[in-house]
Amino acid sequence: MEVNAQSLVRPLVEQLHAYAPGEQPKIKGLIKLNTNENPYPPERSVLRAIRKAADERLRLYPNPTAERLRIKLAKFHRCRPENIIVGNGSDELLALCVRVFVEPARATTPETPRSRSTVQYFEPSYSLYPVLADIHGAHKNAVPLGQDFDLPGVAALAQRWDFEAALTFVTTPNAPSGRAYSKQALHGLCREQRGVVVLDEAYVDFAEEHALNLSLRLPHVLVARTFSKAYCLCFLRVGYLVGNPVLISALHKIRDSYNVNGLGQVAAEATLERLAYYRRNFERIKKTRARLTKALTDLGFSALPSQTNFILAKPPKSGAKEWLEALRERKVLVRWFSYPTVKDYLRITIGTDAEVNTLIRAVKSVLRNLE
Ligand SMILES: *Cc1c(COP(=O)(O)O)cnc(C)c1O
Repeated sequence: MEVNAQSLVRPLVEQLHAYAPGEQPKIKGLIKLNTNENPYPPERSVLRAIRKAADERLRLYPNPTAERLRIKLAKFHRCRPENIIVGNGSDELLALCVRVFVEPARATTPETPRSRSTVQYFEPSYSLYPVLADIHGAHKNAVPLGQDFDLPGVAALAQRWDFEAALTFVTTPNAPSGRAYSKQALHGLCREQRGVVVLDEAYVDFAEEHALNLSLRLPHVLVARTFSKAYCLCFLRVGYLVGNPVLISALHKIRDSYNVNGLGQVAAEATLERLAYYRRNFERIKKTRARLTKALTDLGFSALPSQTNFILAKPPKSGAKEWLEALRERKVLVRWFSYPTVKDYLRITIGTDAEVNTLIRAVKSVLRNLE
């Protein structure tokens, strides 16, 4: 008798709602403002370093701990290489955190506090966190953000927050709201927390301040960074965590031996030699961001102030999903999320100035059609 393939898949996996990444369409002439990629290329010497490394050495395994990159990152952040783990994108590291710090609910006894198997995060924030919790069979504590996507006040927090949760993810600046939380507020939140806190700073290079120091001062705080967004290397998948060596070495224990590909390591190392180029890039994107925020506001959108490389904006006159489709017909792709807290908004990545001009023209054309 033939084996029924479906019966081999664990029910947990069968029922899982997988993470839905933004589309990577191949439509010619389409302007892609849907996945927060950097619109500008990596610096020339980074491309050169990658090309130079692509020779017969491809048959060799890469350095298993991304040692040279960790040494460079340690210099950059004024810490030690032992404070750093590099991952196949920061997404991999977020998943490793769940596996290291959170008990699967089924592995606990009735006496185990629920907090030991709880993954906690704000809503809305990065929609990967609940998926990671589900994959692991953990409990989720999704806590609504306050007014205008700010952190909830003390009273609201006291009601819903689990101060003992095994793992708490805080996206800062937040996605998809684009809003940053002050260092002081983050410090306050971390200080009250008994479990591990991951500050996911994927967009921090476009913000006014960062909270990396918290990961070097508090033993239970990790900061996640990535080369994807600000450093134009989505394609190569390199991210890292900074934090206490005890937590970092626990994460090292369970990762794949060669989790970071060699070309990614080379590219990230070369990137750290060219920070001036990237700082100019951030300034350019921030300038375009200000211009787009104003243009959208003038056209009747309610655009939230952003500290990231995208804007969350509520379009006028018609639903956000209809706008998504209308813009797509005009060859501009933005992102729309169906969940209740943000379903009335579009998330628009900051492109080049030319791309943003095309978007503004497309918006005007949609508006004329709605008149
Ligand atoms: C893009 C993103 C990541 C993942 O980055 P990679 O390093 O490409 O895996 C993590 N967190 C947030 C909030 C992001 O937006």
